[in-house]
Amino acid sequence: MTLSSSTDRLASLRADLERRNPAEPEFHQAAREVLESLAPVFAARPEYAQPGLIERICEPERQIIFRVPWQDDRGDVHVNRGFRVEFNSALGPYKGGLRFHPSVNLGVVKFLGFEQIFKNALTGLGIGGGKGGSDFDPRGRSDAEVMRFCQSFMTELHRHIGEHTDVPAGDIGVGGREIGYLFGQYRRITNRWEAGVLTGKGQAWGGSAIRTQATGYGSVLFAAEMLRGRGEDLQGQTAVVSGSGNVAIYTIEMLGRRGAHPLTCSDSEGYVVDEKGIDLELLKQVKEVERARISEYAQRRGASAQYVRGGRVWDVAADLAFPSATQNELHERDALALVRNGVKAVAEGANMPTTPEAVRTLQDAGVAFGPGKAANAGGVAVSALEMRQNAARDSWTPERVEAELTGIMGDIHRICHETAEHYGVPGDYVTGANIAGFERVADAMLAQGLI
Ligand code: NDP
Repeated sequence: MTLSSSTDRLASLRADLERRNPAEPEFHQAAREVLESLAPVFAARPEYAQPGLIERICEPERQIIFRVPWQDDRGDVHVNRGFRVEFNSALGPYKGGLRFHPSVNLGVVKFLGFEQIFKNALTGLGIGGGKGGSDFDPRGRSDAEVMRFCQSFMTELHRHIGEHTDVPAGDIGVGGREIGYLFGQYRRITNRWEAGVLTGKGQAWGGSAIRTQATGYGSVLFAAEMLRGRGEDLQGQTAVVSGSGNVAIYTIEMLGRRGAHPLTCSDSEGYVVDEKGIDLELLKQVKEVERARISEYAQRRGASAQYVRGGRVWDVAADLAFPSATQNELHERDALALVRNGVKAVAEGANMPTTPEAVRTLQDAGVAFGPGKAANAGGVAVSALEMRQNAARDSWTPERVEAELTGIMGDIHRICHETAEHYGVPGDYVTGANIAGFERVADAMLAQGLI
């Protein structure tokens, strides 16, 4: 197959995918980004272009949608929608988080599940791709309400998951509290201590050290690798971080540990810029303990911090940027602002936070750009290590898990870098990650026959 016939074939597949999956713009965007990377692989390796392979990769193995009824503290009844998309199990059990946020719909879950296939393949840890969640909004809900919702959600979900089948974890709106309630209900319904059915558990009952920190730590480690390739390190670099949830907090923590200066964090209402650097303990108190808004941080921090309602962190000048909140939060105009301010590297802590136009702007300006499926793979990698510990009924030290995480992020960086070089686009981590992930999944699918 020539390069141009490969490009035509992938364009027609894209058109077909968009026609068959209407009203799913996030899924279209995620699929398009991968498909656009694959033409050189199809041209070089005809076995990958054989009919049906890429079509199967774009079609989830199974999509489950279910009703989640629950009662709030006043006794009022609510009905939410639950999702689990089991996208691809060629490399191992479906693996991917659950997102509880009002914006969740089938297209969002499919985009996340699709990304997860390639991300999980890049870790090399034998995990397939899946994702799930609900349009339930945990914000402002009491612990009792969140518990009743999680119990109702798991009452249906338990039929579809299992340590050898499908292993969910957290994502936006699902942290340690929610995983605890979900695990409790799974255990109650099944009467099994099946620790490996969920990851992100508390350390006293089967969780792994460093899982909470892993995504944020990993994206900083990935950025460090990108900088190393340019003869630089993190010491003394300033950074803008968006979000103030799990990923953002531990990105900020690792930046501080490596001698960098994180200046910002945000939520959906605004951002904080702190010229002395974000105070990690205050941030954790406000977000993890009190579950308050980020404006609260600025109120308590004193003169060094300013709260900007409705603003965007990308206007703050810095050497590095870590989009760590949600999809499509960094647009072309933001990329232009980052470039104007001299940004050197961008590592995506969130999934697909940078729009395609913004990615192009950054890459054209020579900025090192680490896509989420590589840069934020540390979370799912440590989830896979949690599954390993559960299978062996073992518990590793934080030092051991962090050393493994550091090694895995280094390996992911290397394979993305080498693959990009091999296909003639040196420094293009987007293409490198897409092709390297694709090749691993495609090889397993080809070996396992037409299923
Ligand atoms: P959290 O729920 O802990 O935090 C999410 C943060 O992003 C909050 O500060 C939230 O603000 C903000 N946010 C969410 N939606 C929006 C929005 N529409 N506009 C602006 N801000 C928003 O989630 P995580 O930190 O776990 O996840 C963040 C990102 O990282 C997601 O893209 C997720 O898929 C990705 N990710 C997470 C992993 C993990 O291990 N947790 C692993 C790999 C990727 P507010 O409170 O105002 O909503």
